Amino acid sequence: MSDTVRSAAFREEHHIFREQVRRFVLQEVTPHHDRWEREGQVDRELWRKAGAQGLLCPNMGEALGGPGGDFLHSAIVIEEMAREGCSGPGFFIHSEMVAPYLVNFGTPSQQQRWLPGMASGEVVGAIAMTEPAAGSDLRGMKTTATRAGDRWLLRGQKVFISNGQLADLAVVAAKTDPRDRNSVTLFLVDTRSPGFRRGRNLDKIGVHAQDTSELFFDDIELGDDCVLGQPGDGFRQLMHGLVPERLAIAVSCQAKAEAALAWTVDYVSQREVFGAPLSTLQNTRFRLAELHTDAAVGRTFVDDALNRHMHGELDATRAAMAKLWVTEMLGRVVDACLQMHGGWGYMREYPIARAWVDARIERILGGSNEIMKEIIARAVMPGAQSAQPPKESRR
Ligand SMILES: Cc1cc2nc3c(=O)[nH]c(=O)nc-3n(C[C@H](O)[C@H](O)[C@H](O)COP(=O)(O)OP(=O)(O)OC[C@H]3O[C@@H](n4cnc5c(N)ncnc54)[C@H](O)[C@@H]3O)c2cc1C
Repeated sequence: MSDTVRSAAFREEHHIFREQVRRFVLQEVTPHHDRWEREGQVDRELWRKAGAQGLLCPNMGEALGGPGGDFLHSAIVIEEMAREGCSGPGFFIHSEMVAPYLVNFGTPSQQQRWLPGMASGEVVGAIAMTEPAAGSDLRGMKTTATRAGDRWLLRGQKVFISNGQLADLAVVAAKTDPRDRNSVTLFLVDTRSPGFRRGRNLDKIGVHAQDTSELFFDDIELGDDCVLGQPGDGFRQLMHGLVPERLAIAVSCQAKAEAALAWTVDYVSQREVFGAPLSTLQNTRFRLAELHTDAAVGRTFVDDALNRHMHGELDATRAAMAKLWVTEMLGRVVDACLQMHGGWGYMREYPIARAWVDARIERILGGSNEIMKEIIARAVMPGAQSAQPPKESRR
């Protein structure tokens, strides 16, 4: 991925930051990633080191304790981790999904309590929406927060929560009015609170170094100072975060596809079959030509989306298109690249093997690709209802 052919509006300060992030990834992340994959999570110390280098919450203002960059700084961290195949550190969830809730909806005292620690890496954040029986259709969630005097009692469980084992802060979605399916409130839950329990670090097929957990809330007592914004405002808040979240997924997957192609070009140039490099076979040449064209199309769309987002002009439909198209493209690219590696592509010692399995989740999380299609279809055919509408999906 050459910076010179990018149309995103990176400036000199971004190029300098990219070099710094690249060094950090090579020195502090890649040498440990195999061990983290075996252990199921990254070292806690990594978060502090990343915070000290300004890699956490890169676009958070200095007044809130952040490094004061913009979304292009965030994109750089996402891209540099992606192109080295470092799927373990859950920085993107922490920086681009959790912190923005506090930045956008937190009171000054909530911001002061949590945000400087999130930028420094002292506090790891998680976002807990999904439940065993409620993912795409979040309004089916069962977790409740009921009033008990001047406190709230949070009861329920979440599943598939990224950073769940390491989290110090969980933003938890709960129903607060049993008569109203739409009444969801977001709570800031300190994971040291009595009644908070972490379940299993889930056994996934890929992304092994990232902790993904069940979380349980056994009547956790919370004050009003733990409510984010107004009670019942949760869905509006969740919607607010979806554009940058989906853009970030597209940014990451684009970089992953470009990395897979670079590894594969290297491999086919060196691997000999029938007395000549694989790269001389027409099938290899044509497949790589097609895949590079796919990646070039994705790059143009992603950089355009980044530029739009920088100007506050990226809408939900275009963000859904970016997430849909780039995650599907990544799936095609890693599968074809693995094929070109032959049996070695199936061995985890080759990065393409991990990239292939890690890529599979991208079509499911952040709103599944079927939900992305619903969002796009609603925008292009505003008058036409789906025969099977996602009745009250958040997505
Ligand atoms: C590794 C990993 C990390 C995750 N991290 C987090 C996290 O940090 N926080 C969090 O809250 N959640 C997280 N999730 C959960 C993730 O967001 C959900 O898995 C996702 O939203 C899908 O929900 P579901 O698994 O319940 O599938 P379901 O909603 O049950 O969907 C099953 C299938 O039906 C399809 N479908 C559903 N509705 C429709 C429709 N209306 N039209 C057509 N098809 C439809 C879906 O696309 C999917 O293919 C994570 C999941 C994984 C696996």
